[in-house]
Amino acid sequence: MIRLENIQRRYVSDEVETTALHDIDLAVAAGEFLAIMGPSGCGKSTLLNMLGTVDRPTGGRYLFDDLDLAALEEKALAKFRGATLGFVFQSFNLIDELTIEENVALGLAYRKDAGGRRNRVAAAMDKVGIAHRARHYPHQLSGGQQQRAAIARAIVGDPKLILADEPTGNLDTANGEQVMSILTGLNDEGATIVMVTHSPSHADMAKRRIDMLDGRIVASAMRAI
Ligand code: ADP
Ligand code: ADP
Repeated sequence: MIRLENIQRRYVSDEVETTALHDIDLAVAAGEFLAIMGPSGCGKSTLLNMLGTVDRPTGGRYLFDDLDLAALEEKALAKFRGATLGFVFQSFNLIDELTIEENVALGLAYRKDAGGRRNRVAAAMDKVGIAHRARHYPHQLSGGQQQRAAIARAIVGDPKLILADEPTGNLDTANGEQVMSILTGLNDEGATIVMVTHSPSHADMAKRRIDMLDGRIVASAMRAI
């Protein structure tokens, strides 16, 4: 599904150059659950931003189902992102002024098929066990519930790829495990997931793990079954 070829990302600020990613080659097949680990500053978020097309590489190619994303203008890229990707963040990123069901419906913003929207929102909330909080606002929910709502928003449009940046980073152990069990359940049903995590035990729940160091992938391992 995804091929990153020689992806490079350099930042220049105050004439100081940082290479956040050096020649990254990475393939992700449909149905994978990939965990990315590594110390702070090694380039995990930059790599996830590349995959999410929220930042452009300074070198290399990104092919998604053989579509060369470098060729797309910003507007087409935004459309691609909305229709193809689902994002889950460490800090949930729900909109405080919207109810949970309204937040979840945002995941359908780029979907044209107006029919069935209510059902899709309801089904997504149901799937993560948050339906009983549909009319509440984010501040009325626990962190674990907010993250479950954020996952519902990410999956409601049936994205080809879910990108999760430390989805359990702000949660206690029990809520973190609940979120991991939702993610592994989605993967069992066929969802493709790439997740950045600092938790070795959560990385072990993925099917494959890569370790990064100083902007490079230094190890890659499949989970022993
Ligand atoms: P991680 O997610 O593994 O902590 P990052 O991808 O955030 O690492 O950062 C990788 C490197 O790129 C770091 O050295 C960081 O300081 C640098 N970096 C990230 N974003 C920027 C930016 N916008 N401008 C300059 N340097 C950046
Ligand atoms: P609250 O504090 O609002 O009651 P909880 O997180 O305790 O929220 O969960 C409330 C209900 O939702 C419980 O009945 C629980 O079993 C159910 N629930 C929680 N998580 C899930 C889930 N991932 N899938 C299905 N049901 C869930």
